[in-house]
Amino acid sequence: MEVADKIAKVREFLRPIRQQGKSIGFVPTMGALHDGHLALIKRAREETECVVVSIFVNPLQFCPNEDYDKYPRRLEEDLRLCENSGVDLVFSPSVEEIYPREQLTIVSVRKLTETLCGRSRPGHFDGVTTVVTKLFNIVQPDIAYFGQKDAQQAVVIKRMVEDLNFPIEIVVVPTVRDEYGLALSSRNEYLSPEEKIQARSIYMALKTAEEKIKEGEKDAHVIIDTMRQIIESAGPFRIDYISIVELETLQEVDRIDSLPVMVAVAVYIGKARLIDNIIIRE
Ligand code: AMP
Repeated sequence: MEVADKIAKVREFLRPIRQQGKSIGFVPTMGALHDGHLALIKRAREETECVVVSIFVNPLQFCPNEDYDKYPRRLEEDLRLCENSGVDLVFSPSVEEIYPREQLTIVSVRKLTETLCGRSRPGHFDGVTTVVTKLFNIVQPDIAYFGQKDAQQAVVIKRMVEDLNFPIEIVVVPTVRDEYGLALSSRNEYLSPEEKIQARSIYMALKTAEEKIKEGEKDAHVIIDTMRQIIESAGPFRIDYISIVELETLQEVDRIDSLPVMVAVAVYIGKARLIDNIIIRE
Protein backbone atom coordinates (compact mmCIF):
# COMPACT_ATOMS: atom_id res chain seq x y z
CA MET A 1 0.00 0.00 0.00
CA GLU A 2 1.27 3.43 -0.94
CA VAL A 3 0.78 6.44 1.33
CA ALA A 4 0.94 9.93 -0.16
CA ASP A 5 0.66 13.28 1.51
CA LYS A 6 1.34 15.26 -1.67
CA ILE A 7 -0.96 15.76 -4.65
CA ALA A 8 1.97 15.27 -7.05
CA LYS A 9 2.66 11.84 -5.58
CA VAL A 10 -1.00 10.78 -6.01
CA ARG A 11 -0.90 11.81 -9.67
CA GLU A 12 2.41 10.03 -10.22
CA PHE A 13 1.11 6.83 -8.60
CA LEU A 14 -2.16 6.80 -10.54
CA ARG A 15 -0.85 7.78 -14.00
CA PRO A 16 0.46 4.31 -15.00
CA ILE A 17 -2.60 2.63 -13.46
CA ARG A 18 -4.88 4.75 -15.62
CA GLN A 19 -2.67 4.11 -18.66
CA GLN A 20 -3.04 0.38 -18.12
CA GLY A 21 -6.80 0.91 -18.36
CA LYS A 22 -7.43 -0.10 -14.75
CA SER A 23 -10.51 1.27 -12.99
CA ILE A 24 -10.02 3.51 -9.97
CA GLY A 25 -12.37 3.48 -6.97
CA PHE A 26 -12.27 6.32 -4.48
CA VAL A 27 -13.44 6.54 -0.85
CA PRO A 28 -13.14 10.03 0.67
CA THR A 29 -13.09 10.06 4.49
CA MET A 30 -12.11 12.19 7.45
CA GLY A 31 -10.35 9.25 9.10
CA ALA A 32 -10.93 7.64 12.51
CA LEU A 33 -12.03 4.73 10.37
CA HIS A 34 -14.71 2.29 11.54
CA ASP A 35 -16.72 -0.52 9.97
CA GLY A 36 -18.88 2.03 8.09
CA HIS A 37 -15.84 3.30 6.21
CA LEU A 38 -14.62 -0.26 5.75
CA ALA A 39 -17.91 -1.21 4.05
CA LEU A 40 -17.26 1.52 1.47
CA ILE A 41 -13.70 0.30 0.96
CA LYS A 42 -14.88 -3.31 0.60
CA ARG A 43 -17.41 -2.31 -2.04
CA ALA A 44 -14.72 -0.34 -3.90
CA ARG A 45 -12.39 -3.34 -3.68
CA GLU A 46 -15.10 -5.55 -5.23
CA GLU A 47 -15.95 -3.18 -8.05
CA THR A 48 -12.69 -1.50 -9.05
CA GLU A 49 -9.08 -2.50 -9.68
CA CYS A 50 -7.31 0.23 -7.73
CA VAL A 51 -8.74 1.57 -4.46
CA VAL A 52 -7.81 5.05 -3.23
CA VAL A 53 -8.83 6.28 0.23
CA SER A 54 -8.38 9.89 1.30
CA ILE A 55 -8.07 10.84 4.95
CA PHE A 56 -8.51 14.55 5.44
CA VAL A 57 -10.32 16.45 8.18
CA ASN A 58 -11.56 19.25 6.00
CA PRO A 59 -11.64 22.57 7.89
CA LEU A 60 -13.87 24.12 5.23
CA GLN A 61 -16.85 21.95 6.17
CA PHE A 62 -16.85 22.75 9.88
CA CYS A 63 -18.76 25.78 11.17
CA PRO A 64 -16.83 28.08 13.53
CA ASN A 65 -18.36 26.64 16.73
CA GLU A 66 -18.05 23.00 15.69
CA ASP A 67 -15.65 20.18 16.56
CA TYR A 68 -12.83 20.70 14.03
CA ASP A 69 -10.14 20.80 16.74
CA LYS A 70 -11.56 17.86 18.69
CA TYR A 71 -12.30 15.63 15.70
CA PRO A 72 -10.53 12.27 16.27
CA ARG A 73 -7.29 11.87 14.33
CA ARG A 74 -5.35 8.59 14.36
CA LEU A 75 -3.54 8.11 11.09
CA GLU A 76 -1.36 5.15 12.16
CA GLU A 77 -4.37 2.99 13.03
CA ASP A 78 -6.26 4.15 9.93
CA LEU A 79 -3.33 3.13 7.73
CA ARG A 80 -3.26 -0.31 9.33
CA LEU A 81 -7.00 -0.75 8.66
CA CYS A 82 -6.57 0.40 5.05
CA GLU A 83 -3.65 -1.94 4.52
CA ASN A 84 -5.68 -4.87 5.90
CA SER A 85 -8.61 -3.95 3.65
CA GLY A 86 -6.57 -4.10 0.45
CA VAL A 87 -6.38 -0.38 -0.22
CA ASP A 88 -3.81 0.52 -2.89
CA LEU A 89 -3.23 4.18 -2.07
CA VAL A 90 -4.01 6.38 0.93
CA PHE A 91 -3.94 10.12 0.37
CA SER A 92 -3.55 11.94 3.69
CA PRO A 93 -2.66 15.54 2.88
CA SER A 94 -2.02 18.42 5.25
CA VAL A 95 -4.40 21.37 5.29
CA GLU A 96 -1.68 23.42 3.52
CA GLU A 97 -1.47 20.88 0.72
CA ILE A 98 -5.20 21.17 0.01
CA TYR A 99 -5.56 24.87 0.80
CA PRO A 100 -2.15 26.46 0.09
CA ARG A 101 -3.81 29.86 0.00
CA GLU A 102 -7.25 31.30 0.53
CA GLN A 103 -9.76 29.18 -1.40
CA LEU A 104 -11.51 31.75 -3.57
CA THR A 105 -13.42 29.18 -5.62
CA ILE A 106 -16.34 27.54 -3.87
CA VAL A 107 -18.54 24.84 -5.35
CA SER A 108 -22.07 25.31 -4.10
CA VAL A 109 -25.15 23.20 -4.77
CA ARG A 110 -28.33 25.18 -4.24
CA LYS A 111 -31.73 24.11 -2.89
CA LEU A 112 -30.71 20.59 -1.80
CA THR A 113 -28.39 22.15 0.78
CA GLU A 114 -31.04 24.44 2.22
CA THR A 115 -33.00 21.76 4.12
CA LEU A 116 -32.14 19.30 6.93
CA CYS A 117 -28.48 19.70 8.04
CA GLY A 118 -28.02 22.69 5.75
CA ARG A 119 -30.25 24.76 8.04
CA SER A 120 -28.22 24.30 11.19
CA ARG A 121 -24.77 24.01 9.57
CA PRO A 122 -24.45 27.05 7.30
CA GLY A 123 -21.59 26.64 4.82
CA HIS A 124 -21.10 22.98 5.68
CA PHE A 125 -22.17 21.59 2.32
CA ASP A 126 -20.18 24.21 0.38
CA GLY A 127 -17.16 22.94 2.30
CA VAL A 128 -18.02 19.36 1.37
CA THR A 129 -18.69 19.98 -2.32
CA THR A 130 -15.59 22.15 -2.66
CA VAL A 131 -13.24 19.59 -1.10
CA VAL A 132 -14.87 16.68 -2.93
CA THR A 133 -14.42 18.55 -6.22
CA LYS A 134 -10.74 19.10 -5.42
CA LEU A 135 -10.30 15.43 -4.44
CA PHE A 136 -12.13 14.27 -7.57
CA ASN A 137 -9.77 16.40 -9.67
CA ILE A 138 -6.73 15.03 -7.86
CA VAL A 139 -7.73 11.34 -7.95
CA GLN A 140 -9.93 11.30 -11.08
CA PRO A 141 -11.71 8.09 -10.04
CA ASP A 142 -14.12 6.08 -12.15
CA ILE A 143 -16.37 5.35 -9.17
CA ALA A 144 -16.61 7.18 -5.84
CA TYR A 145 -18.25 5.66 -2.76
CA PHE A 146 -20.36 7.49 -0.16
CA GLY A 147 -22.41 6.28 2.83
CA GLN A 148 -26.19 6.40 3.14
CA LYS A 149 -25.63 7.49 6.75
CA ASP A 150 -24.89 10.99 5.38
CA ALA A 151 -27.88 10.87 3.08
CA GLN A 152 -28.07 14.56 2.27
CA GLN A 153 -24.36 14.62 1.43
CA ALA A 154 -24.87 11.73 -1.00
CA VAL A 155 -27.81 13.45 -2.71
CA VAL A 156 -25.89 16.73 -2.95
CA ILE A 157 -22.79 15.08 -4.41
CA LYS A 158 -24.79 13.07 -6.92
CA ARG A 159 -26.43 16.27 -8.10
CA MET A 160 -23.10 18.13 -8.26
CA VAL A 161 -21.62 15.34 -10.39
CA GLU A 162 -24.58 15.53 -12.77
CA ASP A 163 -24.72 19.32 -12.91
CA LEU A 164 -20.96 19.68 -13.50
CA ASN A 165 -20.55 16.62 -15.76
CA PHE A 166 -17.92 14.86 -13.69
CA PRO A 167 -17.18 11.55 -15.48
CA ILE A 168 -17.59 9.71 -12.16
CA GLU A 169 -20.19 7.20 -11.01
CA ILE A 170 -21.43 7.73 -7.45
CA VAL A 171 -22.26 4.62 -5.43
CA VAL A 172 -24.13 4.96 -2.13
CA VAL A 173 -23.48 2.18 0.40
CA PRO A 174 -26.06 1.23 3.11
CA THR A 175 -25.55 2.47 6.67
CA VAL A 176 -23.54 0.18 8.93
CA ARG A 177 -24.96 -0.03 12.47
CA ASP A 178 -23.88 -1.60 15.73
CA GLU A 179 -25.83 -4.52 17.17
CA TYR A 180 -28.32 -2.10 18.79
CA GLY A 181 -28.99 -0.15 15.62
CA LEU A 182 -26.81 2.87 16.39
CA ALA A 183 -25.28 4.09 13.12
CA LEU A 184 -21.49 3.92 13.32
CA SER A 185 -19.86 7.34 13.29
CA SER A 186 -16.47 8.76 14.23
CA ARG A 187 -18.45 11.18 16.42
CA ASN A 188 -19.86 8.32 18.57
CA GLU A 189 -16.52 8.54 20.39
CA TYR A 190 -17.77 11.74 22.00
CA LEU A 191 -20.55 9.77 23.75
CA SER A 192 -20.32 8.50 27.33
CA PRO A 193 -21.36 4.84 27.81
CA GLU A 194 -24.73 6.07 29.09
CA GLU A 195 -25.25 8.43 26.15
CA LYS A 196 -24.37 5.61 23.78
CA ILE A 197 -27.23 3.55 25.22
CA GLN A 198 -29.59 6.54 25.05
CA ALA A 199 -28.59 7.09 21.42
CA ARG A 200 -30.13 3.75 20.46
CA SER A 201 -33.46 5.56 20.67
CA ILE A 202 -32.66 7.29 17.35
CA TYR A 203 -32.88 4.04 15.41
CA MET A 204 -35.87 2.93 17.50
CA ALA A 205 -37.64 6.13 16.49
CA LEU A 206 -36.75 5.59 12.82
CA LYS A 207 -38.04 2.01 12.91
CA THR A 208 -41.24 3.18 14.60
CA ALA A 209 -41.73 5.73 11.83
CA GLU A 210 -41.26 2.99 9.29
CA GLU A 211 -43.87 0.80 11.02
CA LYS A 212 -46.39 3.62 11.21
CA ILE A 213 -45.94 4.55 7.57
CA LYS A 214 -46.29 0.91 6.51
CA GLU A 215 -49.46 0.68 8.63
CA GLY A 216 -50.87 3.53 6.58
CA GLU A 217 -50.25 6.66 8.67
CA LYS A 218 -50.17 9.56 6.22
CA ASP A 219 -49.74 12.54 8.53
CA ALA A 220 -46.02 13.36 8.75
CA HIS A 221 -46.55 15.44 11.90
CA VAL A 222 -48.15 12.55 13.80
CA ILE A 223 -45.15 10.37 12.97
CA ILE A 224 -42.66 13.09 13.86
CA ASP A 225 -44.39 13.67 17.23
CA THR A 226 -44.15 9.99 18.08
CA MET A 227 -40.47 9.95 17.14
CA ARG A 228 -39.83 13.06 19.20
CA GLN A 229 -41.40 11.38 22.25
CA ILE A 230 -39.29 8.24 21.83
CA ILE A 231 -36.05 10.22 21.57
CA GLU A 232 -36.80 12.79 24.26
CA SER A 233 -37.89 10.18 26.77
CA ALA A 234 -34.62 8.25 26.26
CA GLY A 235 -32.23 10.95 27.45
CA PRO A 236 -31.23 14.61 27.51
CA PHE A 237 -31.37 15.11 23.75
CA ARG A 238 -31.76 18.40 21.96
CA ILE A 239 -33.49 17.67 18.70
CA ASP A 240 -32.15 19.63 15.74
CA TYR A 241 -34.69 18.19 13.31
CA ILE A 242 -36.89 15.23 12.62
CA SER A 243 -38.06 15.43 9.02
CA ILE A 244 -39.81 13.35 6.45
CA VAL A 245 -38.61 14.36 3.01
CA GLU A 246 -39.03 13.49 -0.60
CA LEU A 247 -36.02 11.47 -1.71
CA GLU A 248 -34.90 13.40 -4.77
CA THR A 249 -35.57 16.98 -3.68
CA LEU A 250 -35.13 16.61 0.09
CA GLN A 251 -38.21 18.80 0.49
CA GLU A 252 -40.31 18.13 3.57
CA VAL A 253 -43.66 16.47 3.10
CA ASP A 254 -46.70 17.11 5.30
CA ARG A 255 -48.51 14.06 4.01
CA ILE A 256 -47.03 10.78 2.91
CA ASP A 257 -49.05 10.16 -0.21
CA SER A 258 -46.38 8.31 -2.16
CA LEU A 259 -43.23 6.34 -1.42
CA PRO A 260 -40.29 6.39 -1.25
CA VAL A 261 -39.66 8.96 1.45
CA MET A 262 -36.71 9.46 3.75
CA VAL A 263 -37.11 9.92 7.49
CA ALA A 264 -34.13 11.87 8.81
CA VAL A 265 -33.03 12.83 12.31
CA ALA A 266 -30.35 15.09 13.76
CA VAL A 267 -29.90 15.40 17.52
CA TYR A 268 -27.42 16.86 19.93
CA ILE A 269 -26.48 14.83 22.98
CA GLY A 270 -23.56 15.65 25.25
CA LYS A 271 -20.73 16.78 23.01
CA ALA A 272 -22.03 15.03 19.90
CA ARG A 273 -24.32 15.87 17.03
CA LEU A 274 -25.69 12.62 15.63
CA ILE A 275 -27.54 12.09 12.37
CA ASP A 276 -29.35 9.09 10.99
CA ASN A 277 -32.02 8.25 8.44
CA ILE A 278 -33.96 5.48 6.80
CA ILE A 279 -35.58 5.30 3.41
CA ILE A 280 -39.07 3.87 3.28
CA ARG A 281 -39.97 2.22 0.01
CA GLU A 282 -43.08 0.46 -1.26
P1 AMP B 1 -16.62 10.67 7.30
O1 AMP B 1 -15.24 10.15 7.56
O2 AMP B 1 -17.50 10.66 8.51
O3 AMP B 1 -16.62 11.95 6.53
O4 AMP B 1 -17.30 9.60 6.34
C1 AMP B 1 -16.67 9.20 5.15
C2 AMP B 1 -17.65 8.38 4.35
O5 AMP B 1 -18.05 7.23 5.10
C3 AMP B 1 -18.94 9.14 4.02
O6 AMP B 1 -19.33 8.83 2.70
C4 AMP B 1 -19.91 8.61 5.02
O7 AMP B 1 -21.25 8.68 4.60
C5 AMP B 1 -19.46 7.18 5.15
N1 AMP B 1 -19.92 6.62 6.42
C6 AMP B 1 -19.73 7.11 7.67
N2 AMP B 1 -20.35 6.36 8.59
C7 AMP B 1 -20.97 5.36 7.92
C8 AMP B 1 -21.79 4.25 8.31
N3 AMP B 1 -22.11 4.01 9.58
N4 AMP B 1 -22.26 3.43 7.34
C9 AMP B 1 -21.95 3.67 6.03
N5 AMP B 1 -21.18 4.69 5.61
C10 AMP B 1 -20.70 5.52 6.53
